[in-house]
Amino acid sequence: MLDKLGTSLKDAVKKLAGKTVIDRAAVDELVRDLQRALLQSDVNVKLVMQLSQSIKQRSLEEEPAKGMGVREHVLRIVYQELVRLMGSTTEVTLGPQKILMAGLQGSGKTTTTAKLARYFQRKGLRVGVICADTFRPGAYDQVKTLCDRINVPCFGNPKETDAEKITREGLAAYKQLEVVIIDTQGRHALEDHLIEEIINLNTLSKADHRWLVIDAALGQQASEQARRFHEAIGIDGVIVTKMDGTAKGGGALSAVSETKSGIVFIGSGETIEDLERFDPDGFISRLLGMGDLRALVERAEEAVSGEDLDVNAMLKGKFTLRDMYKQLEALNRMGPLKQIMGMLPLGNMQIPDDAYDITSSKMDRYKVIMDSMTPAELDDPSVISSSRIHRIARGAGVSPDDVRELIKYYKTMQRALKGMRGMGGGKFNMQRMMKKFGR
Ligand code: GDP
Repeated sequence: MLDKLGTSLKDAVKKLAGKTVIDRAAVDELVRDLQRALLQSDVNVKLVMQLSQSIKQRSLEEEPAKGMGVREHVLRIVYQELVRLMGSTTEVTLGPQKILMAGLQGSGKTTTTAKLARYFQRKGLRVGVICADTFRPGAYDQVKTLCDRINVPCFGNPKETDAEKITREGLAAYKQLEVVIIDTQGRHALEDHLIEEIINLNTLSKADHRWLVIDAALGQQASEQARRFHEAIGIDGVIVTKMDGTAKGGGALSAVSETKSGIVFIGSGETIEDLERFDPDGFISRLLGMGDLRALVERAEEAVSGEDLDVNAMLKGKFTLRDMYKQLEALNRMGPLKQIMGMLPLGNMQIPDDAYDITSSKMDRYKVIMDSMTPAELDDPSVISSSRIHRIARGAGVSPDDVRELIKYYKTMQRALKGMRGMGGGKFNMQRMMKKFGR
Protein backbone atom coordinates (compact mmCIF):
# COMPACT_ATOMS: atom_id res chain seq x y z
CA MET A 1 0.00 0.00 0.00
CA LEU A 2 1.04 3.56 -0.63
CA ASP A 3 3.63 2.16 -3.01
CA LYS A 4 2.96 4.81 -5.57
CA LEU A 5 3.22 7.55 -2.99
CA GLY A 6 6.53 6.13 -1.88
CA THR A 7 7.92 6.04 -5.41
CA SER A 8 6.81 9.58 -6.16
CA LEU A 9 8.24 10.88 -2.91
CA LYS A 10 11.55 9.18 -3.56
CA ASP A 11 11.66 10.63 -7.07
CA ALA A 12 10.86 14.09 -5.75
CA VAL A 13 13.59 13.98 -3.15
CA LYS A 14 16.06 12.47 -5.58
CA LYS A 15 15.95 15.63 -7.67
CA LEU A 16 17.74 17.42 -4.84
CA ALA A 17 20.74 15.10 -4.98
CA GLY A 18 23.96 16.93 -5.67
CA LYS A 19 22.59 20.37 -4.86
CA THR A 20 24.74 22.40 -2.53
CA VAL A 21 22.50 25.34 -1.74
CA ILE A 22 18.79 25.38 -1.11
CA ASP A 23 17.04 27.59 -3.56
CA ARG A 24 13.40 28.47 -3.61
CA ALA A 25 12.87 27.02 -7.08
CA ALA A 26 14.13 23.59 -6.06
CA VAL A 27 12.01 23.54 -2.92
CA ASP A 28 8.98 24.74 -4.89
CA GLU A 29 9.45 21.92 -7.34
CA LEU A 30 9.83 19.35 -4.60
CA VAL A 31 6.71 20.59 -2.85
CA ARG A 32 4.75 20.47 -6.11
CA ASP A 33 5.81 16.86 -6.70
CA LEU A 34 4.96 16.04 -3.12
CA GLN A 35 1.52 17.60 -3.41
CA ARG A 36 0.79 15.67 -6.56
CA ALA A 37 1.89 12.41 -4.96
CA LEU A 38 -0.15 12.98 -1.80
CA LEU A 39 -3.29 14.06 -3.65
CA GLN A 40 -3.08 11.07 -5.96
CA SER A 41 -2.95 8.89 -2.88
CA ASP A 42 -6.16 10.49 -1.62
CA VAL A 43 -4.71 12.52 1.19
CA ASN A 44 -7.09 15.30 2.15
CA VAL A 45 -6.49 18.56 0.27
CA LYS A 46 -6.38 20.74 3.35
CA LEU A 47 -3.80 18.48 4.91
CA VAL A 48 -1.68 18.47 1.78
CA MET A 49 -1.66 22.26 1.79
CA GLN A 50 -0.69 22.47 5.46
CA LEU A 51 1.99 19.90 5.01
CA SER A 52 3.54 21.48 1.97
CA GLN A 53 3.46 24.89 3.59
CA SER A 54 5.43 23.75 6.59
CA ILE A 55 7.88 21.74 4.52
CA LYS A 56 8.53 24.74 2.31
CA GLN A 57 8.94 27.11 5.20
CA ARG A 58 11.15 24.87 7.28
CA SER A 59 13.35 23.86 4.34
CA LEU A 60 14.09 27.47 3.51
CA GLU A 61 14.26 28.92 7.00
CA GLU A 62 15.99 26.26 9.01
CA GLU A 63 19.72 25.94 8.81
CA PRO A 64 20.86 22.53 7.67
CA ALA A 65 22.70 20.75 10.45
CA LYS A 66 26.48 20.79 10.25
CA GLY A 67 27.75 18.60 7.46
CA MET A 68 24.30 17.87 6.16
CA GLY A 69 23.66 18.17 2.45
CA VAL A 70 20.63 19.83 0.93
CA ARG A 71 18.98 16.54 0.09
CA GLU A 72 19.40 15.19 3.60
CA HIS A 73 18.20 18.44 5.13
CA VAL A 74 14.98 18.44 3.12
CA LEU A 75 14.51 14.70 3.42
CA ARG A 76 14.68 14.98 7.18
CA ILE A 77 12.05 17.72 7.23
CA VAL A 78 9.74 15.80 4.88
CA TYR A 79 10.19 12.79 7.12
CA GLN A 80 9.43 14.68 10.31
CA GLU A 81 6.37 16.35 8.85
CA LEU A 82 5.00 13.08 7.52
CA VAL A 83 5.55 11.39 10.85
CA ARG A 84 3.64 14.22 12.46
CA LEU A 85 0.83 13.79 9.95
CA MET A 86 0.62 10.10 10.77
CA GLY A 87 0.14 10.83 14.41
CA SER A 88 1.95 9.56 17.39
CA THR A 89 2.78 5.97 18.10
CA THR A 90 -0.24 4.76 19.96
CA GLU A 91 0.53 2.52 22.87
CA VAL A 92 -1.39 -0.69 23.27
CA THR A 93 -1.59 -1.67 26.89
CA LEU A 94 -1.62 -5.32 27.73
CA GLY A 95 -3.89 -5.14 30.72
CA PRO A 96 -7.60 -5.09 31.51
CA GLN A 97 -9.49 -2.85 29.11
CA LYS A 98 -12.70 -2.33 27.21
CA ILE A 99 -12.48 -1.41 23.56
CA LEU A 100 -15.35 0.06 21.58
CA MET A 101 -15.14 -0.49 17.83
CA ALA A 102 -16.46 2.22 15.51
CA GLY A 103 -16.73 2.34 11.75
CA LEU A 104 -19.05 2.09 8.82
CA GLN A 105 -20.39 -1.11 7.34
CA GLY A 106 -17.89 -2.84 5.10
CA SER A 107 -14.90 -1.16 6.71
CA GLY A 108 -13.78 -4.49 8.12
CA LYS A 109 -14.90 -3.76 11.65
CA THR A 110 -16.20 -7.23 12.46
CA THR A 111 -13.18 -9.00 11.04
CA THR A 112 -10.91 -6.60 12.90
CA THR A 113 -12.77 -7.24 16.16
CA ALA A 114 -11.91 -10.92 15.86
CA LYS A 115 -8.32 -10.13 14.83
CA LEU A 116 -7.93 -7.98 17.93
CA ALA A 117 -9.35 -10.71 20.11
CA ARG A 118 -6.72 -13.00 18.67
CA TYR A 119 -3.98 -10.40 19.26
CA PHE A 120 -4.77 -10.01 22.95
CA GLN A 121 -5.32 -13.73 23.34
CA ARG A 122 -1.83 -14.36 21.99
CA LYS A 123 -0.52 -11.94 24.60
CA GLY A 124 -1.93 -14.22 27.25
CA LEU A 125 -4.97 -12.17 28.17
CA ARG A 126 -8.48 -13.50 28.68
CA VAL A 127 -10.61 -11.95 25.96
CA GLY A 128 -14.32 -11.72 25.23
CA VAL A 129 -16.27 -10.12 22.38
CA ILE A 130 -19.67 -8.49 22.58
CA CYS A 131 -21.66 -8.21 19.37
CA ALA A 132 -23.66 -5.01 19.73
CA ASP A 133 -24.38 -4.82 16.02
CA THR A 134 -28.11 -5.36 16.03
CA PHE A 135 -28.64 -3.75 12.66
CA ARG A 136 -26.99 -6.01 10.14
CA PRO A 137 -28.60 -9.42 9.82
CA GLY A 138 -26.01 -12.09 10.26
CA ALA A 139 -23.59 -9.84 12.15
CA TYR A 140 -23.72 -12.02 15.25
CA ASP A 141 -23.23 -15.24 13.32
CA GLN A 142 -20.25 -13.76 11.51
CA VAL A 143 -18.39 -12.64 14.60
CA LYS A 144 -19.42 -15.74 16.56
CA THR A 145 -17.99 -18.01 13.85
CA LEU A 146 -14.70 -16.10 13.90
CA CYS A 147 -14.53 -16.16 17.70
CA ASP A 148 -15.34 -19.88 17.86
CA ARG A 149 -12.34 -20.56 15.68
CA ILE A 150 -10.02 -19.07 18.27
CA ASN A 151 -11.97 -20.15 21.32
CA VAL A 152 -12.93 -16.66 22.37
CA PRO A 153 -16.36 -16.26 23.97
CA CYS A 154 -18.77 -14.11 22.02
CA PHE A 155 -21.80 -12.53 23.64
CA GLY A 156 -24.85 -11.61 21.57
CA ASN A 157 -28.40 -12.33 20.61
CA PRO A 158 -29.47 -12.16 16.97
CA LYS A 159 -33.11 -11.69 18.00
CA GLU A 160 -32.48 -8.72 20.26
CA THR A 161 -32.70 -5.27 18.67
CA ASP A 162 -31.56 -3.24 21.65
CA ALA A 163 -27.79 -2.80 21.40
CA GLU A 164 -27.55 -1.17 24.81
CA LYS A 165 -29.27 -4.09 26.47
CA ILE A 166 -26.89 -6.57 24.84
CA THR A 167 -23.88 -4.51 25.83
CA ARG A 168 -25.02 -4.18 29.42
CA GLU A 169 -25.64 -7.91 29.71
CA GLY A 170 -22.42 -8.76 27.93
CA LEU A 171 -20.33 -6.61 30.23
CA ALA A 172 -21.95 -8.24 33.23
CA ALA A 173 -21.28 -11.69 31.81
CA TYR A 174 -17.65 -10.93 30.99
CA LYS A 175 -16.73 -9.21 34.27
CA GLN A 176 -14.03 -11.79 34.90
CA LEU A 177 -12.36 -11.31 31.53
CA GLU A 178 -9.47 -8.93 31.01
CA VAL A 179 -10.11 -7.56 27.54
CA VAL A 180 -13.63 -6.98 26.26
CA ILE A 181 -14.10 -5.82 22.68
CA ILE A 182 -17.45 -4.40 21.68
CA ASP A 183 -18.37 -4.60 18.01
CA THR A 184 -20.95 -1.96 17.18
CA GLN A 185 -23.23 -1.50 14.22
CA GLY A 186 -21.98 0.20 11.12
CA ARG A 187 -24.31 1.41 8.43
CA HIS A 188 -23.60 2.53 4.95
CA ALA A 189 -23.56 6.19 5.76
CA LEU A 190 -23.27 8.35 8.79
CA GLU A 191 -26.83 8.49 10.01
CA ASP A 192 -27.81 10.38 13.12
CA HIS A 193 -29.17 7.23 14.63
CA LEU A 194 -25.84 5.47 14.25
CA ILE A 195 -23.99 8.29 15.95
CA GLU A 196 -26.54 8.51 18.72
CA GLU A 197 -26.27 4.81 19.43
CA ILE A 198 -22.51 4.77 19.62
CA ILE A 199 -22.54 7.73 22.00
CA ASN A 200 -24.87 5.77 24.26
CA LEU A 201 -22.78 2.61 24.06
CA ASN A 202 -19.68 4.58 24.89
CA THR A 203 -21.27 6.15 27.95
CA LEU A 204 -22.73 2.88 29.07
CA SER A 205 -19.62 0.76 28.62
CA LYS A 206 -17.15 3.36 29.95
CA ALA A 207 -14.80 2.06 27.24
CA ASP A 208 -11.09 2.66 27.76
CA HIS A 209 -10.50 2.89 24.01
CA ARG A 210 -12.58 3.94 21.07
CA TRP A 211 -10.95 2.72 17.93
CA LEU A 212 -12.09 3.70 14.47
CA VAL A 213 -11.85 1.15 11.69
CA ILE A 214 -11.15 2.71 8.30
CA ASP A 215 -10.80 1.00 4.94
CA ALA A 216 -7.47 1.94 3.33
CA ALA A 217 -9.17 2.22 -0.03
CA LEU A 218 -11.50 4.91 1.26
CA GLY A 219 -10.79 8.24 -0.37
CA GLN A 220 -11.68 11.72 0.68
CA GLN A 221 -14.79 10.64 2.64
CA ALA A 222 -12.49 9.17 5.27
CA SER A 223 -11.92 12.57 6.87
CA GLU A 224 -15.62 13.25 7.20
CA GLN A 225 -16.28 9.86 8.80
CA ALA A 226 -13.41 10.29 11.19
CA ARG A 227 -14.50 13.76 12.17
CA ARG A 228 -18.08 12.70 12.93
CA PHE A 229 -17.04 9.72 15.02
CA HIS A 230 -14.39 11.75 16.77
CA GLU A 231 -16.85 14.49 17.70
CA ALA A 232 -19.25 11.89 18.99
CA ILE A 233 -17.07 9.67 21.14
CA GLY A 234 -13.46 10.92 20.96
CA ILE A 235 -11.58 8.40 18.82
CA ASP A 236 -8.21 7.56 20.39
CA GLY A 237 -6.83 5.23 17.76
CA VAL A 238 -7.36 4.29 14.14
CA ILE A 239 -7.13 0.85 12.59
CA VAL A 240 -6.59 0.91 8.85
CA THR A 241 -7.83 -2.23 7.14
CA LYS A 242 -7.16 -3.75 3.72
CA MET A 243 -3.67 -2.32 3.53
CA ASP A 244 -2.86 -5.37 1.44
CA GLY A 245 -5.23 -4.36 -1.29
CA THR A 246 -4.65 -0.76 -2.23
CA ALA A 247 -1.93 1.44 -3.56
CA LYS A 248 -3.55 4.52 -2.06
CA GLY A 249 -4.31 4.79 1.63
CA GLY A 250 -4.05 8.55 1.86
CA GLY A 251 -7.67 8.76 2.98
CA ALA A 252 -6.81 6.78 6.05
CA LEU A 253 -3.93 9.12 6.81
CA SER A 254 -6.32 12.04 6.63
CA ALA A 255 -8.64 10.25 9.03
CA VAL A 256 -5.83 9.87 11.52
CA SER A 257 -5.07 13.54 11.35
CA GLU A 258 -8.74 14.38 11.87
CA THR A 259 -8.88 12.44 15.14
CA LYS A 260 -5.50 13.70 16.32
CA SER A 261 -4.74 10.14 17.32
CA GLY A 262 -2.52 7.60 15.64
CA ILE A 263 -2.76 4.36 13.74
CA VAL A 264 -2.84 1.54 16.24
CA PHE A 265 -2.97 -1.45 13.94
CA ILE A 266 -3.14 -2.21 10.27
CA GLY A 267 -5.14 -5.01 8.74
CA SER A 268 -3.16 -6.75 6.05
CA GLY A 269 -5.31 -9.64 4.90
CA GLU A 270 -8.48 -11.60 5.39
CA THR A 271 -7.37 -14.16 7.96
CA ILE A 272 -7.61 -13.65 11.67
CA GLU A 273 -3.83 -13.40 12.01
CA ASP A 274 -3.48 -10.54 9.52
CA LEU A 275 -3.19 -7.69 11.99
CA GLU A 276 0.01 -5.76 12.59
CA ARG A 277 1.07 -3.11 15.06
CA PHE A 278 1.88 0.11 13.31
CA ASP A 279 5.02 2.17 13.72
CA PRO A 280 4.82 5.58 11.99
CA ASP A 281 8.57 6.27 12.06
CA GLY A 282 9.48 3.04 10.40
CA PHE A 283 6.66 3.29 7.94
CA ILE A 284 7.58 6.77 6.72
CA SER A 285 11.27 5.92 6.57
CA ARG A 286 10.49 3.04 4.27
CA LEU A 287 8.13 5.19 2.25
CA LEU A 288 10.92 7.66 1.64
CA GLY A 289 13.43 4.94 0.90
CA MET A 290 15.46 6.00 3.89
CA GLY A 291 15.44 2.65 5.53
CA ASP A 292 14.36 2.36 9.10
CA LEU A 293 17.10 4.56 10.36
CA ARG A 294 15.97 5.01 13.88
CA ALA A 295 15.74 1.30 14.51
CA LEU A 296 19.03 0.82 12.74
CA VAL A 297 20.78 3.42 14.85
CA GLU A 298 19.58 1.78 18.03
CA ARG A 299 20.60 -1.68 16.99
CA ALA A 300 23.89 -0.56 15.55
CA GLU A 301 24.77 1.19 18.77
CA GLU A 302 24.09 -1.94 20.74
CA ALA A 303 26.01 -4.22 18.45
CA VAL A 304 28.99 -2.23 17.30
CA SER A 305 29.77 -0.34 20.48
CA GLY A 306 33.37 -0.88 21.38
CA GLU A 307 33.95 -2.56 18.05
CA ASP A 308 36.98 -1.29 16.17
CA LEU A 309 35.36 -1.44 12.78
CA ASP A 310 36.93 1.24 10.64
CA VAL A 311 33.89 2.15 8.60
CA ASN A 312 35.63 5.10 7.02
CA ALA A 313 38.51 3.07 5.74
CA MET A 314 36.17 0.43 4.49
CA LEU A 315 34.17 2.91 2.52
CA LYS A 316 37.31 4.46 1.15
CA GLY A 317 38.08 1.12 -0.40
CA LYS A 318 40.26 -0.53 2.17
CA PHE A 319 38.23 -3.57 2.93
CA THR A 320 40.11 -6.62 4.08
CA LEU A 321 38.96 -10.11 4.88
CA ARG A 322 39.48 -9.29 8.54
CA ASP A 323 37.10 -6.33 8.16
CA MET A 324 34.59 -8.56 6.53
CA TYR A 325 34.77 -11.06 9.35
CA LYS A 326 34.42 -8.38 12.00
CA GLN A 327 31.50 -6.93 10.16
CA LEU A 328 29.82 -10.28 9.88
CA GLU A 329 30.27 -10.82 13.59
CA ALA A 330 28.72 -7.44 14.34
CA LEU A 331 25.89 -8.01 11.90
CA ASN A 332 25.23 -11.43 13.35
CA ARG A 333 24.75 -9.83 16.72
CA MET A 334 22.36 -7.27 15.26
CA GLY A 335 19.92 -9.84 13.91
CA PRO A 336 19.05 -11.42 10.61
CA LEU A 337 21.19 -9.91 7.92
CA LYS A 338 18.38 -9.49 5.47
CA GLN A 339 16.39 -7.46 7.94
CA ILE A 340 19.37 -5.24 8.67
CA MET A 341 19.95 -4.65 4.98
CA GLY A 342 16.29 -3.74 4.60
CA MET A 343 16.80 -0.99 7.16
CA LEU A 344 19.79 0.50 5.42
CA PRO A 345 19.20 3.40 3.08
CA LEU A 346 20.39 1.47 0.06
CA GLY A 347 17.74 2.82 -2.29
CA ASN A 348 17.24 0.48 -5.18
CA MET A 349 20.61 -1.16 -4.85
CA GLN A 350 20.36 -4.85 -5.54
CA ILE A 351 21.94 -7.10 -2.97
CA PRO A 352 22.38 -10.63 -4.30
CA ASP A 353 20.32 -13.10 -2.31
CA ASP A 354 23.29 -15.30 -1.46
CA ALA A 355 24.83 -12.36 0.39
CA TYR A 356 22.20 -12.87 3.06
CA ASP A 357 22.74 -16.54 3.33
CA ILE A 358 25.24 -16.44 6.12
CA THR A 359 24.62 -18.81 8.97
CA SER A 360 26.70 -19.19 12.09
CA SER A 361 28.04 -22.56 10.95
CA LYS A 362 29.25 -20.84 7.81
CA MET A 363 30.84 -18.17 9.98
CA ASP A 364 32.71 -20.87 11.88
CA ARG A 365 33.98 -22.35 8.63
CA TYR A 366 35.07 -18.93 7.39
CA LYS A 367 37.00 -18.47 10.63
CA VAL A 368 38.86 -21.76 10.22
CA ILE A 369 39.68 -20.94 6.59
CA MET A 370 40.92 -17.48 7.53
CA ASP A 371 43.14 -18.99 10.23
CA SER A 372 45.01 -20.81 7.48
CA MET A 373 45.71 -17.63 5.57
CA THR A 374 48.82 -15.49 5.81
CA PRO A 375 48.49 -11.90 7.04
CA ALA A 376 49.14 -10.69 3.50
CA GLU A 377 46.30 -12.79 2.15
CA LEU A 378 43.96 -11.53 4.84
CA ASP A 379 44.78 -7.94 4.05
CA ASP A 380 44.47 -8.32 0.34
CA PRO A 381 42.62 -11.41 -0.85
CA SER A 382 43.36 -10.59 -4.47
CA VAL A 383 46.80 -12.23 -4.03
CA ILE A 384 45.12 -15.60 -3.41
CA SER A 385 45.93 -17.68 -6.46
CA SER A 386 44.61 -21.11 -7.30
CA SER A 387 47.60 -22.87 -5.72
CA ARG A 388 47.16 -20.80 -2.58
CA ILE A 389 43.52 -21.82 -2.47
CA HIS A 390 44.59 -25.45 -2.36
CA ARG A 391 47.13 -24.76 0.34
CA ILE A 392 44.58 -22.86 2.46
CA ALA A 393 41.98 -25.61 1.97
CA ARG A 394 44.44 -28.30 3.08
CA GLY A 395 45.44 -26.27 6.11
CA ALA A 396 41.84 -25.70 7.13
CA GLY A 397 40.66 -29.19 6.34
CA VAL A 398 38.00 -27.96 3.92
CA SER A 399 37.51 -28.28 0.18
CA PRO A 400 38.94 -25.72 -2.24
CA ASP A 401 35.35 -24.83 -3.12
CA ASP A 402 34.76 -23.72 0.46
CA VAL A 403 37.69 -21.34 0.14
CA ARG A 404 36.39 -20.07 -3.20
CA GLU A 405 33.00 -19.49 -1.64
CA LEU A 406 34.52 -17.32 1.08
CA ILE A 407 36.39 -15.27 -1.50
CA LYS A 408 33.28 -14.92 -3.60
CA TYR A 409 31.38 -13.72 -0.56
CA TYR A 410 34.10 -11.21 0.18
CA LYS A 411 33.88 -9.88 -3.37
CA THR A 412 30.12 -9.50 -3.11
CA MET A 413 30.46 -7.49 0.07
CA GLN A 414 33.20 -5.40 -1.47
CA ARG A 415 30.99 -4.60 -4.44
CA ALA A 416 28.09 -3.69 -2.12
CA LEU A 417 30.37 -1.29 -0.24
CA LYS A 418 31.46 0.27 -3.50
CA GLY A 419 27.81 0.74 -4.40
CA MET A 420 27.17 2.53 -1.12
CA ARG A 421 30.13 4.77 -1.71
CA GLY A 422 28.77 5.64 -5.13
CA MET A 423 25.43 6.68 -3.70
CA GLY A 424 26.93 9.30 -1.48
CA GLY A 425 28.96 10.89 -4.26
CA GLY A 426 32.19 9.81 -2.59
CA LYS A 427 31.28 11.27 0.75
CA PHE A 428 28.88 8.69 2.00
CA ASN A 429 29.62 7.84 5.58
CA MET A 430 27.37 5.38 7.29
CA GLN A 431 28.18 6.39 10.84
CA ARG A 432 27.75 10.07 10.16
CA MET A 433 24.56 9.41 8.30
CA MET A 434 23.18 7.33 11.13
CA LYS A 435 24.01 10.01 13.65
CA LYS A 436 22.23 12.61 11.59
CA PHE A 437 18.97 10.76 11.49
CA GLY A 438 19.22 9.42 14.98
CA ARG A 439 17.13 11.42 17.35
P1 GDP B 1 -17.83 -4.73 8.64
O1 GDP B 1 -19.08 -4.57 7.85
O2 GDP B 1 -17.18 -3.42 8.87
O3 GDP B 1 -18.00 -5.50 9.88
O4 GDP B 1 -16.82 -5.49 7.68
P2 GDP B 1 -16.35 -7.00 7.66
O5 GDP B 1 -15.55 -7.30 8.85
O6 GDP B 1 -17.53 -7.89 7.39
O7 GDP B 1 -15.36 -6.97 6.41
C1 GDP B 1 -15.80 -6.66 5.10
C2 GDP B 1 -14.90 -7.41 4.12
O8 GDP B 1 -13.58 -6.93 4.17
C3 GDP B 1 -14.83 -8.90 4.42
O9 GDP B 1 -14.88 -9.59 3.19
C4 GDP B 1 -13.47 -9.05 5.07
O10 GDP B 1 -12.91 -10.32 4.84
C5 GDP B 1 -12.67 -7.98 4.37
N1 GDP B 1 -11.51 -7.50 5.16
C6 GDP B 1 -11.49 -7.00 6.41
N2 GDP B 1 -10.24 -6.63 6.78
C7 GDP B 1 -9.45 -6.91 5.73
C8 GDP B 1 -8.03 -6.74 5.47
O11 GDP B 1 -7.24 -6.25 6.29
N3 GDP B 1 -7.59 -7.16 4.26
C9 GDP B 1 -8.44 -7.69 3.32
N4 GDP B 1 -7.91 -8.06 2.15
N5 GDP B 1 -9.74 -7.84 3.52
C10 GDP B 1 -10.26 -7.47 4.71
